Amino acid sequence: MYKPVAEPFRIKMVESIKMITREEREKALKAAGYNPFALKGEDVYIDLLTDSGTGAMSDNQWSGMMLGDESYAGSRNYYNLVEAVKDIIGYPYCVPAHQGRGAEKVLFPNLIKKKGQYVLGNMHFDTTMAHIELNGGRPLNFITEKAFNTTEPYDWKGNFDLDKLEAFIKNHNREDIAFILITITCNSSGGQPVSMENIRGVQAIAKKYGIRLFIDAARFAENAYFIKRREKGYENKSIVEIVHEMFSYVEGFTMSAKKDAIVNIGGLIGIKEDEELLTAVKTTLIPYEGFVSYGGLAGRDMEALARGLRDGVNEDYLHYRISQVEYLGYRLMEGGVPIQYPTGGHAVFVDAKKMLPHIPYYQFPAQALTNALYIESGVRAVEIGSFLLGRDGETGEQLESPLELMRLTIPRRVYTNSHMDYVADALISLLDKAHELKGLDFEYEPKVLRHFTAKLKPIE
Ligand SMILES: *Cc1c(COP(=O)(O)O)cnc(C)c1O
Repeated sequence: MYKPVAEPFRIKMVESIKMITREEREKALKAAGYNPFALKGEDVYIDLLTDSGTGAMSDNQWSGMMLGDESYAGSRNYYNLVEAVKDIIGYPYCVPAHQGRGAEKVLFPNLIKKKGQYVLGNMHFDTTMAHIELNGGRPLNFITEKAFNTTEPYDWKGNFDLDKLEAFIKNHNREDIAFILITITCNSSGGQPVSMENIRGVQAIAKKYGIRLFIDAARFAENAYFIKRREKGYENKSIVEIVHEMFSYVEGFTMSAKKDAIVNIGGLIGIKEDEELLTAVKTTLIPYEGFVSYGGLAGRDMEALARGLRDGVNEDYLHYRISQVEYLGYRLMEGGVPIQYPTGGHAVFVDAKKMLPHIPYYQFPAQALTNALYIESGVRAVEIGSFLLGRDGETGEQLESPLELMRLTIPRRVYTNSHMDYVADALISLLDKAHELKGLDFEYEPKVLRHFTAKLKPIE
């Protein structure tokens, strides 16, 4: 029996959530084209669509919001943010951006110097991939094979396969590689952590071949917590010490602050020492995101971000956070629901291929499961499988994703452990009806990023 860590906070303000009736949910989902992205937030009881920007700010962050200095240039909140980055990450330089993709849009053109250059990662996030491509680069993934086995336990399913990475670099001209990017935790492989040993290994390769090295830092604190829990030699180090060490091996980072910095909007670019790069980044920032001391954020947003960075590395909080995700995973496994194991930092992934083996990939089993969960319980999850993957750019054929997953993404400090029980019970109750669920077909299919706006219908 897994007992989750009790919430290390008490609740000062509440937001009512309500459950509409099953008939209303059926109607709402039909109107949404069987695509939960098109549901109204108000028609959802527990919203596990994403952990991005959905966290609950602390009383300290909210009180900081009242101290916004809305000076166009040189806001005091910007200086507080710089201090927080110095303390938590250990870097002297940073600029804000409106969110993670804003940071990518500003940094990447300063790193990709030639059309067709490769950007090597463990597994790039989708907006990251898009910004590499928009700048003429080619994103490539070198994640460990172990990440694709959903049931075999392995502590570091976010790690690079270092042999493959080095072999690729050896076989290519140095000028054909723009930079290496380590995503921590690795969102696309399930919020799975990267070990310090692996980060050091990537750094050794980068150094040997003279390649620039950066971190995509959205879930840096959750990654540090996994290192403390799982990696030998780190059990007695503080989270901040571990964070400092992780960032010491690279020269800069982009960060979506909507994740581990627990703000509803915000992003960051950090640079360790390269003042030339800093100047270039500042020059790019101004036309895209805004002046260097606000980068698309209000003064009050920067204050919440500065304080959120400190909240996010609190060990009691991280202990509870990771435990809550583990607890949901444990309840589902115990109830017979197939999930990716071990669970990652921010979500539990349900293996829809195993749960709905009668629905082929081109009828989107994980989307069918996501819809059934909403009808059953008012819980909104999200499909990560063939529906998200899309079609082959040349042949137009539907691609087959290696995994058909439904992601239950847990917002930070928002839902209690009894909400997790509710979600687990609802999914377990679907096991008996799983064989009756039907696949889906398109009614309307947009050309790009179809999963956001497509309309579907169940196949009768
Ligand atoms: C969310 C995320 C991004 C993009 O950040 P936004 O704030 O959504 O623009 C980039 N990389 C990773 C790993 C992410 O999780």
